[in-house]
Amino acid sequence: MLEKMNGFTHQSVIDEFEATTKDAGKVQVETLGKILEENGEAEYLQKLGLNGRTDPESFKACVPLATHPDLDPYIQRIADGDFSPILTGKPITTISLSSGTTQGKPKFVPFNEELVKSTMQIFRTSYAFRNREFPIGEGKALQFIYSSKQSTTKGGLTASTATTNVYRCSQFKNTMKDIQSQCCSPDEVIFSPDFHQSLYCHLLCGLIYREEVQFISSAFAFSIVHAFRTLENVWEELCGDIRDGILSNRVTVPSIRTAISKILEPNPELADSIYMKCSGLSNWYGVIPELWPNAKYVYGIMTGSMEPYLMKLRHYAGKLPLLSADYGSSEGWIGANVKPWLPPELVTFAVLPDIGYFEFIPLREKPEDQELEKTGSTLNYMESEPIGLTEVKVGEEYEIVVTTFAGLYRYRLGDVVKVMGFYNSTPELQFVCRRSLLLTINIDKNTEKDLQLAVQASTKLLAEEKVEVIDFTSHVDSSTDPGHYVIFLELSGEASEGALNECCSCLDRSFLDAGYVSSRKVSTIGALELRVVHKGTFRKILDHYIALGSAASQFKTPRCIGASNTAVLQILCNNLVKSFFSTAFD
Ligand code: AMP
Repeated sequence: MLEKMNGFTHQSVIDEFEATTKDAGKVQVETLGKILEENGEAEYLQKLGLNGRTDPESFKACVPLATHPDLDPYIQRIADGDFSPILTGKPITTISLSSGTTQGKPKFVPFNEELVKSTMQIFRTSYAFRNREFPIGEGKALQFIYSSKQSTTKGGLTASTATTNVYRCSQFKNTMKDIQSQCCSPDEVIFSPDFHQSLYCHLLCGLIYREEVQFISSAFAFSIVHAFRTLENVWEELCGDIRDGILSNRVTVPSIRTAISKILEPNPELADSIYMKCSGLSNWYGVIPELWPNAKYVYGIMTGSMEPYLMKLRHYAGKLPLLSADYGSSEGWIGANVKPWLPPELVTFAVLPDIGYFEFIPLREKPEDQELEKTGSTLNYMESEPIGLTEVKVGEEYEIVVTTFAGLYRYRLGDVVKVMGFYNSTPELQFVCRRSLLLTINIDKNTEKDLQLAVQASTKLLAEEKVEVIDFTSHVDSSTDPGHYVIFLELSGEASEGALNECCSCLDRSFLDAGYVSSRKVSTIGALELRVVHKGTFRKILDHYIALGSAASQFKTPRCIGASNTAVLQILCNNLVKSFFSTAFD
C-alpha cells in the first residue's frame, strides 16, 4: 500500500528523484539558470559583470571560487541590517551559525526559505527510500533534538544554528507528520533553554511512549550516544518520575514542567517494567530494542566525524539496524542516502541535482609524496580546475564547491568527498574528511581522518582490557622544543599503565604521513604525548560550546584544540589524570 505524504505518495517522491537524476547534467544547467535568474540583481553578481547571463560558461568565467572569509564582509553587512540585494535578490532575514567547532567560533551563513524547502525535499527523499526497505507504522519518534540559543544581530536579524532555524519553521512540523517522524516530546522540551533538562525530558517522554516509538534519531550520532550514556546514570530517577507521576526537581524550567505535567501520570507498572528491563541488561547492551520494542531502526548522521561513536551506538542498538542520514551543511544540502540498507561505513550520498549547482575540484596526491612511502594522509593534494557534477570519475577524490539558492556562489565547502558510483547520472559521494589540517608542526600534515584512524588503532589495545574511548581530541604543543602532538583521551574505565604506554606508542606509530614519520625519526618533532582525562571532561567541553551558542543537535567534538582556545585547553588540563610519552621512535 502506498502511504500518503501530504498529497504525495512515497512512490511519487521516488519517481521525482528518478526523473531528476536521469539527466542530472541538464537539471544542473536549469538549476544554475534558476539561481542566477532569481538573484541576478544581487550586488555580488552585478559587480562580477555577469550582466544577467545564466549559463555555466559565463558563470565560471565571471565568478571566482570563494571561501567563507571572501563572503564574510557581504554577510556581515546583511547581519548589520543592510536590506539591499547583496547576495540574493530577496533580502536575507535570518542568519545561521555554522557549528564552527574546529575554528573555535561559529561562522555566519545566510538562511532563507529556499533552504527550508531543500531541507524538506531531502528529508522526504531519503524517507521515501528508507521506508521502502524499513517500513514504520503509525507512531512516534524518539528524537534527541535541541534548539540552540537564538540571538539578534546588530541589524535585527535572527541568528541561530541552521537546525534551530529549521525546527522553528511550520513546514518542519508538517513534513515530520508526513514522514511519520513526530517527536515524542512537546515543543517546550525541544526549545528548552537548558540542554540537560531537555535531554532528561526527551528520555522521559520516550519512555512514556515506549510502545509507540517507531525509531530513535538525532541529527548526528553523537547526540544519541550521549543520550544513552546519560540514561545509564539517570534511569532510576526516570523510573521514579514515572512511578509517582511527578517530574524530578532537576527540571526547573516552568514551561517544560507544565508541558510534561500534561503527559506524565503515575504508572507503577510501566516504571516496574522499565526497572526490570534496565536491571537485566548486561552493560547496557541492546538497551534500545529492550526499552523500545517497536523501534525499527536508529537514524542519524553516522559518517565522517561521527564514525568514532559507531561502536558504542551498535552496542546500545543491539540487533537494530543503524541507518545513516543525509549529507549537508548549514550552507546547503548536497545528497541523500538512498541506499539505507548499507552499513554506515559504506554509506554514500546521491547528489540532488536540483538542490543547488555543484562543482568538484579534483584532488590528486602530490607527486613528491608518491616517491615516499605511502602516506595514507588525505591532505597532500594537487588541485586542478573544478569540473561539473556529471564529469566526476568513480574512485577519485574531490573538494566540493556549492552554488546555492541562499546566496553562496562557487563556495568551497571544505569537505573532501570520493565518488563511489552513479545513481542514474548523479554521483554517489562518500564523505572522506574536512580538508583543513588538524595537526602540523613542520612538514607533517595530518587531517581529522588521520587522527581518527590513529585513535581507532589504539582503541583496539584498550578494548583488550574492556576499556572504551569515550571521546578524544588533540593539540599541538609548541611550548616544548621540538614541538609534539598531544592526544587527549577520555576512557570508560581504568586501563593498566602497560596498556596506556603501548596505546601511546601505537598512536605515534599510526600517523603514517611521511612528513610526520621522517620528522619523528630525526627528532624534529618530539615524542607523542597521551593525556588521559577524567570521565566527564568532554561533557564539560560540550557544555562550554553550548554556553557559547552552539546547538547540541549539531555538535561535533572539536578534534584539535588550537593554542588560542584557552578555555577548552584549560578544561582539558584541569582534568588530567595522567600523561604518557611514546617510545615508538626511541
Ligand atoms: P555544520 O557547520 O554544523 O552545518 O556542519 C556541516 C559539516 O558537517 C559538513 O561540511 C561536513 O563536514 C559535516 N557533515 C554533514 N553531513 C555529514 C555526513 N552525512 N557525513 C559526514 N559529515 C557530514
